[in-house]
Amino acid sequence: MALKIIENVSLTKYSTMRLGGFARFVANIKSRQDVVDAAAWAETRQLPLMMIGVGSNIVWGDKGYSGLIMINQIKGFKVFKEDDGNIYLTVGAGEVWDEVVKKAVKKGLSGIEALSLIPGTAGATPVQNVGAYGQDMSQILVSVEAYDRKHNTFVIIPKVDCQFSYRDSRFKSADKGRFLITGLTLHLKATHMKPPFYDSLQTYLDIHQIKQYDPATIRKAVIAVRSSRLPDPKKIANNGSFFANPIVDIPVFRSVISRYPGIPHWPQADGRVKLSAAWMVELAGFKGFDDPETGMSVWPNQPLVLVNKKAKTTRQLIEFKQKIIVKVRYMFGVTLEQEPELIGDL
Ligand SMILES: Cc1cc2nc3c(=O)[nH]c(=O)nc-3n(C[C@H](O)[C@H](O)[C@H](O)COP(=O)(O)OP(=O)(O)OC[C@H]3O[C@@H](n4cnc5c(N)ncnc54)[C@H](O)[C@@H]3O)c2cc1C
Repeated sequence: MALKIIENVSLTKYSTMRLGGFARFVANIKSRQDVVDAAAWAETRQLPLMMIGVGSNIVWGDKGYSGLIMINQIKGFKVFKEDDGNIYLTVGAGEVWDEVVKKAVKKGLSGIEALSLIPGTAGATPVQNVGAYGQDMSQILVSVEAYDRKHNTFVIIPKVDCQFSYRDSRFKSADKGRFLITGLTLHLKATHMKPPFYDSLQTYLDIHQIKQYDPATIRKAVIAVRSSRLPDPKKIANNGSFFANPIVDIPVFRSVISRYPGIPHWPQADGRVKLSAAWMVELAGFKGFDDPETGMSVWPNQPLVLVNKKAKTTRQLIEFKQKIIVKVRYMFGVTLEQEPELIGDL
């Protein structure tokens, strides 16, 4: 077996929050055969296993992970069919997602240009149906190639069977942990995005008097907007948005809006209302807040982003998160939920 299993590895480098304990075992996965070998290796030893990308959506507990972490590094980018403005490509799950976007945009292909600069690997994008500025994976994914741990075989899962919804899929919910994603097939187009765009992107285009919406122009604009609002996880430890926008029932919404008429909100198809978590965290006084007790901060340009400045443990991060949750609940009567996945015990 060519696969190398490494023992007792700090998980801090496998989360962009740079916190967490140790993994008992880690393996770099470079091929489909590595997937088969790693899964068999863990099964023989009755160890839990999971596949990850770069941990941009993961917070590891301080007690670490007692099984095998498979780091997906399977490469590949190939256009395999072009017809009449429709372009189909296959992508290895371990490709850096933004490199995939960059290559597609360079070929003039549309469909993922608004997903520029989202950290992580291609293989993780279907897991939470990654999205931004009006595009998401459910719009352009044809199928997922994965190793099915239930039947110990490779499968092709068409989009209709991925159970996509807002930032969710069967890979995150019903079948969490079952499929080890090895590749994606995407359907991109030669046509361009059309206005109106999402608020912040539209404002940027208006200010710069941009009226061309080819993929390269949109990518450049998205990168500019994102860079002005979000910290670069390569330089500053963070997991992007730490809280999801809460969706509340009408009585809760009425109570909030009567006291805070300015809160941004979006009615949902099911009659409930989505509230802006960023607005609540800002009003609760946390925007740009540095917490000396935990070493954590809130990013000044985006109150949903918690930044690890000096924290040493995940327990400190969770303590800080609780301070925000308690204050927001006290002011608004709404409980914020964490977005990045917490894996393992504190
Ligand atoms: C600054 C910043 C900005 C962000 N902006 C956005 C945004 O605009 N929109 C958005 O949707 N997300 C955003 N995110 C979240 C994150 O980038 C995405 O969730 C990304 O897809 C995670 O990729 P990853 O490779 O780091 O996955 P990881 O964090 O390593 O893994 C995330 C989950 O996916 C599973 N997984 C990963 N790879 C595989 C695989 N090959 N097979 C099976 N399961 C797998 C893991 O087990 C885990 O459960 C942002 C994060 C940061 C830090």
